[in-house]
Amino acid sequence: MSVADSAERFLPYGRQAIDDTDIAAVVEVLKGDYLTTGPKVAAFEAALAAKLGARFAVSNSSGTAALHLACLALGLGPGDAAIVPSVTFLATANAVRMVGADVVFADVDPDNGLMRPEDLEAAFARADAAGLKVRAVFPVHLAGQCADMTSLSALARRRGAAVVEDACHAIGAYHACGDGAAAAVGSCRLSDMAILSFHPVKTVAAGEGGAVTTNDPALARRLERLRAHGMVRDGAEFENADMAFDETGRANPWYYEMPEIGWNYRLSDIHAALALSQLERLDGFVETRRALARRYDDLLAPLAPRIEPIRRSRFSMPAWHLYSVLIDFTGAGTERAQVMNRLRAQGIGTQVHYIPVHRQPYYRKLNPGLVLPGAERYYARTLSLPLFVGMTPADVKRIVARLNDAVGVSAVREAS
Ligand SMILES: *Cc1c(COP(=O)(O)O)cnc(C)c1O
Repeated sequence: MSVADSAERFLPYGRQAIDDTDIAAVVEVLKGDYLTTGPKVAAFEAALAAKLGARFAVSNSSGTAALHLACLALGLGPGDAAIVPSVTFLATANAVRMVGADVVFADVDPDNGLMRPEDLEAAFARADAAGLKVRAVFPVHLAGQCADMTSLSALARRRGAAVVEDACHAIGAYHACGDGAAAAVGSCRLSDMAILSFHPVKTVAAGEGGAVTTNDPALARRLERLRAHGMVRDGAEFENADMAFDETGRANPWYYEMPEIGWNYRLSDIHAALALSQLERLDGFVETRRALARRYDDLLAPLAPRIEPIRRSRFSMPAWHLYSVLIDFTGAGTERAQVMNRLRAQGIGTQVHYIPVHRQPYYRKLNPGLVLPGAERYYARTLSLPLFVGMTPADVKRIVARLNDAVGVSAVREAS
């Protein structure tokens, strides 16, 4: 690659980091006996559970499928409600609707998009007023830093609701536990389940893939069954004894049973091989992302308050999936679209994470008139800058300089 190439290559807001060991791992599967769910899926699940410190990891075909399965495993359905912060990807809320339950949107911290205990409290109060029975709460670890799990979890449990962490941004992060200790995101120390995504833009890539981690054996068994058509093959669970067993009482070799309906949400061995190979490099990925974030923090410091990093959570040792900043577009006399277009013309991709979900037409019809000022204020200012493992500190420098130009912050207070 020439100097000019490396200086001017297009920088997307996120992308995967694939190396030769990843490629070799996938090729090995292609030469073997199993393409879909086989030994690589089992190996990946064991490695994921061990890495995150959960008893069980149940892999599946996407983070969205994982969220859907979590709702199914909890038995959420029509007449139930779940609380979801409005600043998240569509899928967190959609999963609740997929099982016919109601979504109660919570507001968020205007400076980092995380649901706070007071936001959760207000959402419970709104649910109470509407006569809704909240059975689950979905904290989202936005951008890779963690919400206040100690308070959120205590509040949810006091109200008899399950806690499902949407940890799709936060593999490799740690959250505070209130006792001075920290727990790995995905260990489910303060939750019933945690959801992971292995979409290529996330820290660990499978192509498409997801997982649910849990410490509850009954939830794990239910998740496994629901991801594979609702089928069981364990003799202890068979109901039709006359069909299931021969005269000696042994289960018939062909026999399976379907006690409830399920989906085909399995991960393939091809995807699992890539995810497993990537998982082995997680610590390095997280370290690189943290170093790039620190570089951004340093270079952006003189641009405050017009451009600022999102506020750091006190409850988190983050593993940055996104590097999001807050920009006072109005104060700078510009508009976000203009800034994004200018940056794109300079080879820099940016994105907005996220449009508050309660503002989507589908959810608007279900929640007419709902106003969440924290979510609005976060949305009005947020922009995600490129952050991925293949970036260099020089890329960060170039991005910050171009961002500065694009926002029109003319008087950069240089130390010189
Ligand atoms: C990516 C993502 C999902 C969905 O994951 P997929 O694997 O793309 O289905 C859910 N929630 C959040 C917060 C995400 O970022």
